[in-house]
Amino acid sequence: MSQSHARDLLTVVIAAFNEADSLPVLHPRLMDVLGALAREDGVDARVLYVDDGSRDGTWGLLQAFAAADSRVGLLRLSRNFGKEAALTAGLDRIEAGAALILDADGQDPPELIPRFVAKWREGFDDVHGTRIQRAGEGWIKRSSAHAFYRVIGRLSKTPIPADTGDFRLLSPRALAALGQLRERHRFMKGLFGWVGFNRVAIPYERDARVAGASKFNLWRLWNFALEGITSFSTAPLRLATYMGLATAAAAFAYGVLIIVKALLWSDPVAGWPTMMAVILFLGGIQLIALGLIGEYLGRLYEEAKQRPLYLVDAWHPATGVSSGHD
Ligand code: UDP
Ligand code: MG
Repeated sequence: MSQSHARDLLTVVIAAFNEADSLPVLHPRLMDVLGALAREDGVDARVLYVDDGSRDGTWGLLQAFAAADSRVGLLRLSRNFGKEAALTAGLDRIEAGAALILDADGQDPPELIPRFVAKWREGFDDVHGTRIQRAGEGWIKRSSAHAFYRVIGRLSKTPIPADTGDFRLLSPRALAALGQLRERHRFMKGLFGWVGFNRVAIPYERDARVAGASKFNLWRLWNFALEGITSFSTAPLRLATYMGLATAAAAFAYGVLIIVKALLWSDPVAGWPTMMAVILFLGGIQLIALGLIGEYLGRLYEEAKQRPLYLVDAWHPATGVSSGHD
């Protein structure tokens, strides 16, 4: 549990995709917090921005940040790979110390970072923020998120804490462990849960975005949920087996009923409506089961290709701690 805290090193990793509107708001706030951390807590704190193939002025902004402050490191991916890949790229570059993941849009208040660091120093490996309020998010998003955490909590054997985003601090050993998980479909919440170690939650109010719009619409969230479920559970495959068993049993019982009726009451064998209903029902179930298998097969296919998770276009590590605000 105990790590050496001679001069703690912390890298804040921020994935940014078209965040030119939010970054000018977030960056000064963040640098203030990091400055205070260095002065008051003796933490050598840096930030690593990962530009996830932005097409607005994000990269230019980031370069200006880095030129002005040696605590800023920059990584640019060759195109938009998605938040998970961008975060992975950032985390992969951290050679020492702990990592803290933050959203670029100010929804995770940087002012909370000292509390995360305090928990880390108490010996926790995975300090994660838990939302107690979702400001600026509609009821559809809130209720669907709620339902999602309940479903995945039941289906998956890996503990996935509810209402936990990516706002979290990982100790060096948790970070190293996460680095070993190289799967292509990266459902980060599940991956963090898989790693384990000493975990603690910090409840916080999630603010609304400071600027710009969320990149996650309902369709993307739905796919994200599918991703989570298929990455961390094979329960749907078993469901297909049970559906098959149940329909087979029902069909058998129905067959017996028809025979008995024909023999005992010489009931004429009737009609194509029942036949159609049964055929269509079975056809539907078969397609669903096939789709489920396909879902997993598709994932297997993508893993089998063994492509890298991301490609790097540019990499400027932070050179060090600036002594003050020069
Ligand atoms: N993001 C990214 N690549 C993407 C989409 C989003 O790096 O393809 C970043 C984005 O810049 C932000 C974070 O991921 O820092 C969260 O995105 P967003 O605020 O759109 O998601 P939400 O908070 O609505 O879940
Ligand atoms: Mg956001």
